[in-house]
Parts: sequence; C-alpha cells; structure tokens
Amino acid sequence: MGIIIQKFGGTSLINDERRNQAIDKIQNALEENFSPVVVVSAIGREGDPYSTDTLLSLLKSQVVEPRPREKDILMSCGELISAVIMSNALNSRGYDSIVFTGGQAGIITDDNYTDAKILEVNPRNILESIDKGIIPIIAGFQGMTKDGNITTLGRGGSDVTASILGEALEVEVVEIYTDVDGVMTADPKIVSDAKVMDTVFYNEVFQMAEYGAKVLHPRAVEIAMRSNIPILIKNINTEFKGTLITNYDKTRSYRVDRDKIITSVAHINNRAQVRITPSKLGYKNHERLFEQIAKEGISIDMINIYPELIFFIIDDKDSKKLEGVLGELHYEYTILKDLTKVTIIGNRMAGIPGVMAKAVTALSMEKIEILQTSDSHTTISCLIESKHTNKAVNVLHKHFGLGNKDI
Ligand code: ADP
Ligand code: MG
Repeated sequence: MGIIIQKFGGTSLINDERRNQAIDKIQNALEENFSPVVVVSAIGREGDPYSTDTLLSLLKSQVVEPRPREKDILMSCGELISAVIMSNALNSRGYDSIVFTGGQAGIITDDNYTDAKILEVNPRNILESIDKGIIPIIAGFQGMTKDGNITTLGRGGSDVTASILGEALEVEVVEIYTDVDGVMTADPKIVSDAKVMDTVFYNEVFQMAEYGAKVLHPRAVEIAMRSNIPILIKNINTEFKGTLITNYDKTRSYRVDRDKIITSVAHINNRAQVRITPSKLGYKNHERLFEQIAKEGISIDMINIYPELIFFIIDDKDSKKLEGVLGELHYEYTILKDLTKVTIIGNRMAGIPGVMAKAVTALSMEKIEILQTSDSHTTISCLIESKHTNKAVNVLHKHFGLGNKDI
C-alpha cells in the first residue's frame, strides 16, 4: 500500500464545509488503499483570525522587533492550530489521527530563522503511525534545529513540507489542494481568462514559481524534481482533475510553434529598483558592495553594471537594510519603489526572433513604461510601475494567445 501526501492550503481549511471536503479527499485516498499523510497550512489568509499574518500583526504596535527565534515560535502557531482542528475533525468522522509538529515529523533544519533550510528528515514517527493505521497530520511550514528550536521555512513553506516528506517517504504522489483549479497560464485573480494547464514539467512550474506565481513554492518543485515525485495541484472545492507536474516526457513533442513559444505570464509585486552612481572619483571596486549585500541576506536581481552606473532590483522589504549598506560604503543612490516584475515564460524562446519586440509592443500600446528588462533562455522580464500590473499581465497574456478565448 503506497503512501501519498495530501497538503491543504489555508483557504482549504477555512470553515467546516472546506474541512469536510478535505476529509472527503482523505477518505478517497483511504478507499483507494493509499496511506495518506496530511500536511496543513495555517487557516485562512491575512485578516483571518489565525493566519500567519494575523499572528505577526499582534506585534505591530510594539517598539522592538521580535528576535528571529521568538518570531518563528509565534509564526509556527498557525499551523499547529490548524493541525489540531483538522485532526479532531477527522476523529469526529470516525478516523484515528495524530498531530505532529514539524520537529516531531522529523524535519531538521539549520538555524536560519524565518527562512530555514532543511538539513535532514527522519520520518520515523510518521511511519510508526501509518503502521498503526493512524493518520498523521503534520503542521506545515516548520521544522526544528538539532538543538530543538522551532524554525519556519519561509512564505509558502507548507508546500516545501509536503515535498520534503514526499521525498523522505518515497510517496506515489504529492497532492496539493488549494483554491484554484490548477497551475494556470497566469494568476486567475488578475486574468479572468487564464487557462488551467493539464500537465506541466517541473522546470516550467519552477520558473513560474520563481517569477512570482504563488500557486507553488519553487523549493517544493525542486525537491519533487530531484526525486521525481509527481505533484498534483487540485481545487478543494471542485472535482476538476487539476494539473499534474511531472518530468520531461519524451512523448510530448516540443514543436516550436511561433505563437505558442510563451506558455505563461507571472508577476511579482513589491519590487524596488536601486540605481547607484558608483563614485565621482573614478574606478571603484564593487566587491565590498556585493559582499555586504550578500552578508545582509539581501537578494538582488536584474543586475546591470556599467562603469558609471549600477542597477538592480530588490524586494521592497529589504530597502532599509540596503540603505544601511550603501550609506556605510558612501555610495550615491536612488531607490524607486512600488514596482512589479512581469515575466513571460516559455520554452526555449532564446534565439527566436521577435518575442521581445512583441512584449514591448504589447506594453507600449497600453502606454506602460518599461523601466528595465532582463531575459534568460526561457524568460523575458519587464519592470513596470505596480499601478500597471493588472493591465500589463492581461495584455501580455492576450498578446501571446494564452487565454481560453485566444485559442
Ligand atoms: P494556498 O493557501 O492553498 O497555498 P496560495 O494563495 O499560496 O494558496 O496559492 C494559490 C493562489 O496562487 C491562487 O489563489 C492564485 O491567485 C495564485 N496564483 C498565482 N499565479 C498562479 C498561476 N499561474 N496559477 C494558479 N494560481 C496562481
Ligand atoms: Mg501557498
């Protein structure tokens, strides 16, 4: 009898109706002779009583920032609450279940609080409960250091919990239940015409996630990819078959169809563009600058270095830290905020003429100014003002023929 992971996101646990739907999915797995291992996120989204953001907001009015260790203890509570409620709901329906914290589930991490890396997994407790016929319910998004300190795995980290346990338990499939029908050609909250993708390869969905498509954590995709475990993304509230994320399939031909070189549009908000005018004194070695940025844990992107100018983008939330670094090293700089990076993602678009031209034309027609671009083998990104996000994502989606109506 094979094991499967069933991960339920925040909106999939929000009320009794959703929780009962989740239990139906667990019941289906049991009826098909699988042993389900359940991973849960905190209930709800920002503003809901026990969501991670709500827990953090309890500290907002206080003068000092919590220490990272304590912040992680607070942030881990949402998933614990959720796991207990889910377990009790299962027990009420006649199933025996047991709750494990991340640590009890054997997820051992480093001590990089709020964004800890998983070092090893010892799923002994989970396997024992499966052997006894008890359904394990694991609080997602969290782990434990070797010294027993609680850590969290970064935003969207329950997906990582699901994948890493999937790998450790050598499961048949990782099922991820959420509030959309699958991986779509763009965020359906922005593009009403976005289309569900039947099958997506790990590398495609990894790119989408890296470039902002929140449907799955990029790390979760990486883990599944390295151990070749299929991920199935499904809507908790519909019977839609969902999206299967799997390995490169030789039977699927990659015909480079000019109009379908692009397969999706992703976007990521809260970007800030940093422009540094290095020095009026002439040549300066920027080694220290980049060293300091790395040391502060600030990740930078869309980097352009010219003799008299350096450009890059950061997450808005790192602006203060970066200003500290730049001030210390006596750089002159400006930071432009409220920006969004919009990315078109495709297969092997590099070398195919006209893709960039098409993207630029689409945005220009809507009078959306492009502040910076970057590209890779499979992506083209444009930095724009956030106020244009909806329009930009929609126009690119339409221009590259990705919607249901565009076929
Ligand atoms: P969960 O709590 O279930 O993990 P998330 O909010 O983290 O849910 O992820 C699901 C959301 O991801 C959807 O509601 C949707 O708005 C967003 N999303 C962004 N891009 C995409 C995409 N390309 N396909 C599907 N969903 C997307
Ligand atoms: Mg999520």
